[in-house]
Amino acid sequence: MSTRFWCETAWVDGQVATGVLLTADETGTLTSVETGIDTPPTIAEVVPGFTLPGGVNAHSHAFHRILRGRTHGDGGTFWTWREVMYSVAAKLSSENYETVARAVFAEMLAGGYTSVGEFHYVHHAPDGTPYGAGDSTRAHAMERALARAATSAGMRIRLLDTCYLTGGIDSELSAEQARFGDGTIDGYMDRHAALSESFATEFPVISPGESFVHVGSAIHSIRAVPAANLPRFAELDEPVHVHLSEQPAENEACQAAYGTTPTQVLDRSGVVASNLSAVHATHLSNDDIASLGGAEANIVMCPCTEADLADGIGPARELADAGATISIGSDQHVVLDALRETQGLEAGERLHSGQRGRFSPAELISSLTTGGARSLDLPVGELAVGKACDFIAVRTDSMRTFGSVGEQVILSATSADVAMTVSGAHVRVRDGVHTELGEISELYRAAFAALGMED
Ligand SMILES: [Zn+2]
Repeated sequence: MSTRFWCETAWVDGQVATGVLLTADETGTLTSVETGIDTPPTIAEVVPGFTLPGGVNAHSHAFHRILRGRTHGDGGTFWTWREVMYSVAAKLSSENYETVARAVFAEMLAGGYTSVGEFHYVHHAPDGTPYGAGDSTRAHAMERALARAATSAGMRIRLLDTCYLTGGIDSELSAEQARFGDGTIDGYMDRHAALSESFATEFPVISPGESFVHVGSAIHSIRAVPAANLPRFAELDEPVHVHLSEQPAENEACQAAYGTTPTQVLDRSGVVASNLSAVHATHLSNDDIASLGGAEANIVMCPCTEADLADGIGPARELADAGATISIGSDQHVVLDALRETQGLEAGERLHSGQRGRFSPAELISSLTTGGARSLDLPVGELAVGKACDFIAVRTDSMRTFGSVGEQVILSATSADVAMTVSGAHVRVRDGVHTELGEISELYRAAFAALGMED
């Protein structure tokens, strides 16, 4: 059985089309995209406003959402923020993480995203013992909690299984980091291979529309993986993500240890390639920009988080001009609003350069959609035959968006204007309420209670 949506206007082939009829098969994959259909067929659900391919959130740490609104009391630096983050990480268990992540993914859908790259490093029990030790049925418990949370909410996930071996260059993991580590690069690679095998059975990737769980890998940062281990990631045929040059202190430590920048350490290791996504990429040299652009790597800018953590403004325009593909991530979820996050990319550019129009509205939409799809290698990001039927409908008649012309609504709308979020041809969120899970604030009430953080 097929499902049909008739969209008043929609973003098709890089432009605004009117009267767009989307047809998806029983797997939630688009089988036809017709434009110029003036009258909605009676069997189609009418979607008013402006329909965009679902936003791709290319960088997320789901549990960081718990920190929102709790880290501003006494100012502090990036590193003091990180201490608070560790205190929340210590509360996570395989039991409560599914409850936490389900709420976050539901909010993410309401905020205009339908796919996520979950940069996941809380692998083991708090003392570092693998969950499967002594009871193989509990293997990959944290990863499975995330995957189940995503599937129950209707969020398409690329679980970026993260390698985290050292607490800093040449320093051991601290006690609070013990649960992130796999001991050695072989320990990581073995666990990663077992995870991929286990997920291929439990969450098989079949047709584009119905496949919600995918696995990729990540290098936490140049701080957390020794340079000698990095070439192993060049052997992986899947998306590889890395936190890159987010803070000047990271660059300084890298210079002291390796005599060059994090980007050049990665490049020498053969990791800078078209399947690499560099997250943040804030403090780069001209050589770094040339390396990432020349390799046609992906860049994940997280403007709202980078502003919140006072990271700085990365050279997004220069990277794009050099050949890199820009995508968007919400990272620590200071907001979960695909529109505001995308607007932040252009806002940073304008503040930094003193020029308007650094990224056109069409380029901003690409960053949110096709750019993220490339970063995560997911069959999404376009309303096109063969892609998953994932989209958001943005109101064009609200007090925020009334009068916006065509695709310029990408610069005026917020998540409050996301009237409907659809993934796999199922309506997941309508007017801010999850169609199966209910009020998202109630999901957070359960999540905070599960963490013992009711107060
Ligand atoms: Zn991050």
